[in-house]
Amino acid sequence: MKVIWNDEIVERSEVKIDMEDRGYQFADGIYDVVRAYNGKFFTLNEHVDRLFSSAEKIELRLPFTKEKLKEMLSELIKINNIDTGNVYMQVTRGIGIPRNHPYPDPEEVSPVFTATTTIVARDQEKMDRGMSALIVPDLRWLRCDIKSISLLGNIMAKHEAHKKGADEAILHREGIVTECSSSNVWMIKNDTIYTHPDGNLVLPGITKLVLLRVAQNAGLSVKEEAFTLEDLKKSDEVFASSTTMEAMPITSIDGNPVGTGQRGPVVKKLQQLYVDAVENECGK
Ligand code: PMP
Repeated sequence: MKVIWNDEIVERSEVKIDMEDRGYQFADGIYDVVRAYNGKFFTLNEHVDRLFSSAEKIELRLPFTKEKLKEMLSELIKINNIDTGNVYMQVTRGIGIPRNHPYPDPEEVSPVFTATTTIVARDQEKMDRGMSALIVPDLRWLRCDIKSISLLGNIMAKHEAHKKGADEAILHREGIVTECSSSNVWMIKNDTIYTHPDGNLVLPGITKLVLLRVAQNAGLSVKEEAFTLEDLKKSDEVFASSTTMEAMPITSIDGNPVGTGQRGPVVKKLQQLYVDAVENECGK
């Protein structure tokens, strides 16, 4: 498998990252994950725009244009023969010697870009069956809109969920549900679909963006409105959304069934609308 290292496509074993890279020392960097279906990227523009937006928020100057990045990513999935799979990309601010907190002068530091691919098919069986979740306090920072590589808060929550036998952690701040540890979270009550609005408390998910659009186009009632743990417990259906999971039903929370304990009709409809959007852009 080849990878991108700065502006080159190389063998993974050729990549050398400096031990004083600020990504390694401070988690001073950002990332994104985009998915390809049938050898074509889905919502590539949106993912590249979000990467550039995250970079801008931390004053990190990316060493390429959006067009150049899209060309390199397309080349990579072609070389690695990725039909359906994910591309993980990250950029760190680069090497800062000696280790020092302030951002170095951008003229004196070169950001380090890497991208890798994995082949992952859609997990239809899990999408039919759903997954379990555990409610965990959201202990992350207050800039969750930046897709930062600093993910300790997220991985601690996910680990907590896994230790208790759940697949995902649903996070809340003082009873207000924000998102999951690696996905956005939604609930359905009386045929209205709710998810937390964008802002500094959640990642502006691209899957969320697509689902909002297809749901509205299909005439479903959708509200980007925060909801509480109490609302969640009384909801009819719950699901998580992300690039890698699409719309994934959550059928049990803290060991209790959500609604009937089976995937509900609204999530099923949204899954279909999402697949239609994918097929529209990437073919069948
Ligand atoms: N929230 C968090 C915390 C995430 O890590 C992710 C996945 N990267 C998402 C939401 C969903 O974002 P997207 O739909 O763009 O994959």
